[in-house]
Amino acid sequence: MAKIKFQNGKWDVPSNPTILYIEGDGIGPEITRAAMKVIDTAVRVAYSGSRQIEWKEVLAGDKANQEKGDRFPQETKDAIEEYRVILKGPLQTPIGKGWKSVNVAIRLMLDLYANIRPVRYINGIESPLKNPEKVDMIIFRENTDDLYRGIEYIYDSNEAKMIRQFMKDKLNVEIEEDTGIGIKVISRAKTQRITRLAMRYAVEKKRKKVTIMHKGNVMKYTEGAFREWAYEVAKNEFADRIVTEDALQGNPVPTGKLLVNDRIADNMFQQIITRPESYDVILAPNLNGDYISDAAGALIGDIGVLGGANIGDLGGMFEAVHGTAPKYAGKNLANPTGMIRGAQLMLEFMGWKEASQLIDRAIDRSIADKKVTQDLARYMGVGYLGTKEYADVLAQYIASS
Ligand code: NAP
Repeated sequence: MAKIKFQNGKWDVPSNPTILYIEGDGIGPEITRAAMKVIDTAVRVAYSGSRQIEWKEVLAGDKANQEKGDRFPQETKDAIEEYRVILKGPLQTPIGKGWKSVNVAIRLMLDLYANIRPVRYINGIESPLKNPEKVDMIIFRENTDDLYRGIEYIYDSNEAKMIRQFMKDKLNVEIEEDTGIGIKVISRAKTQRITRLAMRYAVEKKRKKVTIMHKGNVMKYTEGAFREWAYEVAKNEFADRIVTEDALQGNPVPTGKLLVNDRIADNMFQQIITRPESYDVILAPNLNGDYISDAAGALIGDIGVLGGANIGDLGGMFEAVHGTAPKYAGKNLANPTGMIRGAQLMLEFMGWKEASQLIDRAIDRSIADKKVTQDLARYMGVGYLGTKEYADVLAQYIASS
């Protein structure tokens, strides 16, 4: 079995890599199978059989629980440590009780510090925007720092009391006794590694612009520092490829250069709606990135068509953005496009972009031909295809392209 290797942030991909898959819960098995079929067809057609993915199933979630009595068995962890690239169906996580999220466990295991979500409009889908075809963004959300580090204390805990006391005694800051405490941490190293990833992606994919999203006017030493440290990487490590907005002084961007600018977070929420064409690659700290990812997703009208990736220096996990949609489980009614989009990102990180492009064209064509699953058919006023039949149509389109 051939493994993908990682060196200096680069993926070294053999022609027949072993890639792990987790079917997932709810609609997971149906959409995962559908996505694998589409991916395999695209790879076969794009490379005439000279490249092929060797899929290896690993168990997690409900299926692992049924077969092994454990939602995240040791042998799955061992395989993830070994192979490091995973296509993952959605896994259910109970709210406020029960088992811990397997999704989060995998992210921590592989230190997958970047959450990446492309949001591109597909012609024909009902969107809340007047001109949704202008939406083509990709969000790089830092995944390990910020308020999400989970450094949080309930207002009446000893920890909260100690912190309030420390603030009062040492820093002369008075905090009311009924105050819960959460600590926002943003580090230089974590900011710079995701900036490097986003910049490298933008350069390789010939994107036009990277916008650093922050609220640095208020949170100067966390979000403001994120902005500063991100610019540092852009200017020091990509000097010959980029131009900053400041340096341009209102002049047009020179041909072939990537524009790097920054925008304040709240302003961006209105601008992605009023002029989405102004945004291309968005680089955001964890909390901003969480919010803007969903807001941007809403612009294209349907959560079932969004995919995402979690990437680190030594691996990646690819998935649909949506969850297990339990009401559709086992009914052949789910839209597999989100899962397919996640898998396309995997192909892109592998450097197999020709296969991904074939899939793009097939999805665009299926929507133009109104061959869609029920979630889209209900807005288009047309009959619908099942999950499996929809994947068959995409595979046919790819095979005939
Ligand atoms: P959800 O599973 O995303 O489903 C919410 C609704 O979105 C569905 O009822 C359906 O809407 C629509 N939908 C989502 N995916 C679809 C698809 N592929 N095809 C057609 N329609 C789709 O959200 P949820 O109900 O809040 O979450 C359920 C479980 O998923 C939870 O246990 C949660 O923890 C888990 N989850 C896992 C992940 C992950 O593994 N990465 C991510 C998110 C949530 P309509 O009812 O309008 O048809």
